[in-house]
Amino acid sequence: MMSDFATRASQLDETDPLRDYPAEFLGSDDPEIVAYLDGNSLGRPTRATAQRLAAFLTEGWGGRLIRGWEEQWFDLPLTIGDRIGAAVLGAAAGQTTVGDSTTVLLYKLARGAMALRPGRTEIVLDRDNFPTDRYLLESIASDLGLTLRWIETDFAGGVTARAVGDAVSEHTALVVLSHVAYRSGYLLDAAAVCAATHAAGALLLLDLCHSAGSVEIELDRWAIDFAVGCTYKYLNGGPGAPAFAYVAAAHQADFTQPIWGWMGREKPFEMAQGYVPAAGIRRVISGTPAIVGMIPIQDTLDLIEQVGMAAVRAKSVALTEFAVELAQTWLLPLEVRMSSPLDPARRGGHVTIDHPRFQEITARLWQRGIIPDFRPPQGIRLGMSPLSTTFGEVLAGVRAIRDELTTH
Ligand SMILES: *Cc1c(COP(=O)(O)O)cnc(C)c1O
Repeated sequence: MMSDFATRASQLDETDPLRDYPAEFLGSDDPEIVAYLDGNSLGRPTRATAQRLAAFLTEGWGGRLIRGWEEQWFDLPLTIGDRIGAAVLGAAAGQTTVGDSTTVLLYKLARGAMALRPGRTEIVLDRDNFPTDRYLLESIASDLGLTLRWIETDFAGGVTARAVGDAVSEHTALVVLSHVAYRSGYLLDAAAVCAATHAAGALLLLDLCHSAGSVEIELDRWAIDFAVGCTYKYLNGGPGAPAFAYVAAAHQADFTQPIWGWMGREKPFEMAQGYVPAAGIRRVISGTPAIVGMIPIQDTLDLIEQVGMAAVRAKSVALTEFAVELAQTWLLPLEVRMSSPLDPARRGGHVTIDHPRFQEITARLWQRGIIPDFRPPQGIRLGMSPLSTTFGEVLAGVRAIRDELTTH
């Protein structure tokens, strides 16, 4: 069985339409890194990024100095935003901007959305949402005197359109959900969830951190109101790279966010009295955007624009299917539990498995250059980044987990 799987992994790598892409990443030839299975937490840097950052330093920052703002940087959040919109989000131009962390953008968009539904007193969210989403909605609810209505989710599942339909009412202002659940990997039916939200007259804010760059997204077609997402996961922007925000064109004229900074004001360099929001998506910006952090995102966008998200998603499904098959054969007999959906149509780019010894085993795997991550209470997440992960890495990762469970 083992050699069968080894043959399969080599065949899958040889026939992979994206087989040339793993070599585009720095460290792909580093023998110390046997299997990197955490691209959903921190994507790898591309080789092109090393050059782009060096050029930015010497020619951009070092050469253009303050002139760089006028020449390029002032518009860079919107320029890169539009590229993310077109290549990754299914969003027409003028609706996406880059800046701040996901946490801060979630706050700004959630507050802005609440202001569009005056008189409504509830926000719907789920227990399995990412901690930052839960905490800051708790903060907003406490500031504004709102009620949080929690959807309980199944451990290996996620939020269904039906559960949303049951939770919303004429009191609901906003629904905030992750497109792909950070723990289980459950991929929600965003179009159906959005329809259920709108049926109650509420607005939907989607967190795309775990879906942007791994699953196909159609924000415009699904009629999503607001979205935010990371660029340091599947978009390989680097540790702490700024997040993106999407505000649907239909809401922009009435949308305001609570952090009124000069860079989101109309004509910021007039330094005028009184805040007047800039036209369009620029009003999401508060202070000076983190230009340095935006440089690497462009290299992953170059790659995604070459191949298209359909090919990226196809590779992602093939990787997670292989991981599930390996885990079912090798790990489930060792009392490991599958904690992700088995249906690839309902699964994002990672697979979570649970076992009481996984915390200790993850630490040993890291020493061996096998790098997944651990999520409490006892889960290993196998995160496969479609452009950089090989089937060989998936094989090596699951095999090492089996060895750890059987030999120690
Ligand atoms: C990674 C992640 C975040 C992270 O937010 P930061 O502000 O970048 O720390 C938020 N939400 C989800 C669903 C995530 O997966």
